[in-house]
Amino acid sequence: MDVFQLRDRVLKGGRITRDEARELFTFEGPDLQDLFAAANRIRHHFRGSQVTFCSIMNVKSGKCAEDCVFCAQSVRYQTGVQDYQLLDVEAIVTEARDAAKRGSGCFGLVAAWRGLSKGKVLDTVCEALRRIRAEGVIHPDASLGIIEDASVAKALAEAGLHEYNHNLETSRRFFPKICTTHTYDDRLRTIRLLKAEGIHICSGGIFGLGETIEDRVDMLFDLHEVGADTVPVNFLNPVAGTPMGDVPKLSPLDCLRCLAVARFILPGVDIKSAGGREVCLRDLQGMMFFAGASSTMLGNYLTTLGRSSAMDLQLVQDCGLTAAEKGAFAAY
Ligand code: SF4
Repeated sequence: MDVFQLRDRVLKGGRITRDEARELFTFEGPDLQDLFAAANRIRHHFRGSQVTFCSIMNVKSGKCAEDCVFCAQSVRYQTGVQDYQLLDVEAIVTEARDAAKRGSGCFGLVAAWRGLSKGKVLDTVCEALRRIRAEGVIHPDASLGIIEDASVAKALAEAGLHEYNHNLETSRRFFPKICTTHTYDDRLRTIRLLKAEGIHICSGGIFGLGETIEDRVDMLFDLHEVGADTVPVNFLNPVAGTPMGDVPKLSPLDCLRCLAVARFILPGVDIKSAGGREVCLRDLQGMMFFAGASSTMLGNYLTTLGRSSAMDLQLVQDCGLTAAEKGAFAAY
């Protein structure tokens, strides 16, 4: 396979096949370097030299009733994670302001629970979204689990929600191995409800769960099908106490390979190098943009620490790229 011919097809608006994607996942050595170079060219063609940033806040932590095997916040695993109920609106808005000052363009409210339904909790979330929207310094995003009621999606849209994160996590085939308390179809339904309200979709998955190349390819093609606007590529950072606690981390080159193949399958979307990137990519972190990523997260994750925002802003500059959206280099 000539990866540069494949690149040219994608640059002209063509698509790669599942067979071709599977083959890209087997690239090693100099071929792998060519894959990165080709993915980098596709990133530049569709996304330019801008890198987007988002930050997240765990607005309700721990004691989630679901059983996702990678998650520190499931009530089923002893992980020592801090648990607390939904924070008040003021605390959330204050953190959103800080995220804007640090250089993020989007701020995601994330909650550890199965999902969101009508009631007081939704009212508080909507109030926080409205307040953040009104300040006009950062896009209000959210990741609040499964939504089964169209009126909830409508309320979020009316409150000014910009983008909703709901990952597919892995392939349909492998999903029952990572979660038994809800289904892949529950996730797809949630995404469709939100899309119907005109909300942007952030949906990706976790690599390194023990999935096969086939699973990786299937998930990436499904993400293309659901029309995700942003695709977070997470790398498993195993948490002690979860069933995944002893799983070896992906190698830096495997992480970069995932980003590069994702760029071939999803050429125009904002591909975000997300959770686990510091611990899995190690000294190859700067390569994430040259392997196809156009976005990353600033600051801490939900239950693990990230690194300083200043380091990531510097990294983008050192790569000859620019930080998108407002306030990217504001002193903080
Ligand atoms: S639903 Fe979310 S918070 Fe709950 S266990 Fe799964 S990943 Fe963790």
